Amino acid sequence: MNKRIAIFPGSFDPITKGHENILLRTLPLFDEIIIAIGKNSSKQSYFSIEQRSKWIKQVFKNEPKVRVETYSGLTIDFCKKMKANYILRGLRTSADFEFEKAIAQNNKVMAPKIETIFILPVSELSAINSTIVRDIIRNGGNAKPFIPNGIDLKSGS
Ligand code: ADP
Repeated sequence: MNKRIAIFPGSFDPITKGHENILLRTLPLFDEIIIAIGKNSSKQSYFSIEQRSKWIKQVFKNEPKVRVETYSGLTIDFCKKMKANYILRGLRTSADFEFEKAIAQNNKVMAPKIETIFILPVSELSAINSTIVRDIIRNGGNAKPFIPNGIDLKSGS
């Protein structure tokens, strides 16, 4: 049987407890999940791709089924390259739903074999997003409650 491989694409700028939770809850469904950090030329990141990747690897160092990669271009093309048939996305808000629905349906036309799977956040992590975490860091606040344990934000660039 083919390996069940999923891609979890995103910016992860930085990884939050919300991302970590989605990954850990979906891990039992797959043989491998590739966390794919998208290099988006039109979106300036706050943390470098190396830093983001390092933190993610740290968080999942004890999970042999989790891999971290970076990619540019279309997510479906990266899926094909990785032989992944599933894309994981979280749905936090109705705005997420509208946006993700269009992308997933168009992806389905372009790549019929690839399924997008949506996961709802658990209520206590639903309000966490990287934009807010970046604002807290930028303004010298304590972002620790929102990011996975064991990450040293001071090592950030
Ligand atoms: P992107 O720029 O692609 O949205 P993000 O790093 O912000 O990248 O998010 C990656 C994925 O993780 C998205 O599907 C997003 O909905 C999901 N996600 C982010 N934060 C949470 C959260 N708190 N709970 C559930 N899913 C989340």
